[in-house]
Amino acid sequence: MNNHNEAKSSGHNLAHSDPNKIPGWNEDLELAFSAYKGPYTPGRVASRHKTVCEVLVSGAVVQAGISGALLKIGKQPVVGDFVVLLDQPELGSRMVVNILPRRTCLSRGAAGDGSGEQVIAVNLDTIFIVTSVGKDLNLRRLERYLAIVYSSGANPVILLNKIDLEDKPTRLVEKIQSITGDVPVIPLSALSKTGLDELSPYLNPGETVALIGSSGVGKSTLINALLGETVQKTGDIRKDDEKGRHTTTVRQLFLLSNGAVLIDNPGIREIQLGDSADGLEKAFSEIVDAARNCKFKDCTHRDEPGCAVLKAVEDGLIREERLASYHRLTEELIFQSKKAEIGLKRLEKEKYKEIAVNIKKYRKFTGKS
Ligand code: GDP
Ligand code: ZN
Repeated sequence: MNNHNEAKSSGHNLAHSDPNKIPGWNEDLELAFSAYKGPYTPGRVASRHKTVCEVLVSGAVVQAGISGALLKIGKQPVVGDFVVLLDQPELGSRMVVNILPRRTCLSRGAAGDGSGEQVIAVNLDTIFIVTSVGKDLNLRRLERYLAIVYSSGANPVILLNKIDLEDKPTRLVEKIQSITGDVPVIPLSALSKTGLDELSPYLNPGETVALIGSSGVGKSTLINALLGETVQKTGDIRKDDEKGRHTTTVRQLFLLSNGAVLIDNPGIREIQLGDSADGLEKAFSEIVDAARNCKFKDCTHRDEPGCAVLKAVEDGLIREERLASYHRLTEELIFQSKKAEIGLKRLEKEKYKEIAVNIKKYRKFTGKS
């Protein structure tokens, strides 16, 4: 079958590529990949487009189609994925035929939603939650981002940017720490390039970092600062050189010169609080801990008698704003899952409508009733 998703194989020979040169490659991946012999090569998705991926292989970025079989079983390669490529230069075809196990997964959309959950980026070790001094510094919003990051499985680090505009950044750091517990908070200025060294513990060779935060907080400036100094864009890696073929796509995965990986993709930037119920529990662990002592198992911590959370608020052990945030975010999650359910019901209704139409047609055709 001629697959329309197939990308034309170019002159780049993948036969001798070395997996150890793929940023982030590790023993677990090696093991998972050991099942493949012959014309298969591993790679890492540097950007995803409708029908093709740009894939980082050792020493090059190549284009690959996506196997129809893979899409049929609902597997979508996304930026950060380690994938198995089937390279058949003699057929002029190169395709992503499988996805190796994902360590962490940043996604949006409520589970059970009719349209399904949308995975945005995977295999992230750390997510920098970027905020800045001034108007953007909003603790409630930070809680929201923390919940998202926790549910992805990656480690959160909060960056307080634009400290060049602030006389007392330490006070702001303390303010943030009041809600974030053990999460590191790093004050810096992407513009004047101060504090960037503090990021190096999270930018180790083979580790993958992505940035989230509202527009205007300085994510692009920070990425440029990090890339500009020590780094090389994946775009600088030698491209396929076959004539008449060029890639005009924008890469979303950048390689730092020490082997660390930075992922910046529009989907990550626009992420909202989605299906992060488990993340919420982690972001509000003091409330969850206290709730173990509530009299009722299904206590909502609003007005129930014997509520240990309300008691802790009364005793000054939990801040009132924290409980208010928890309530607000919980409601948001409930709303989203209801919406998802309704979407599902509508979908089912449509399915039955189609069946009913087919039955009618059938009856008309056969004259049976
Ligand atoms: P993004 O939307 O998060 O990618 O934000 P940008 O990187 O585009 O930055 C938004 C604005 O903030 C730009 O005008 C930047 O020059 C400015 N900016 C970014 N970092 C800093 C910083 O550390 N200090 C100051 N004063 N301005 C900054
Ligand atoms: Zn309670």
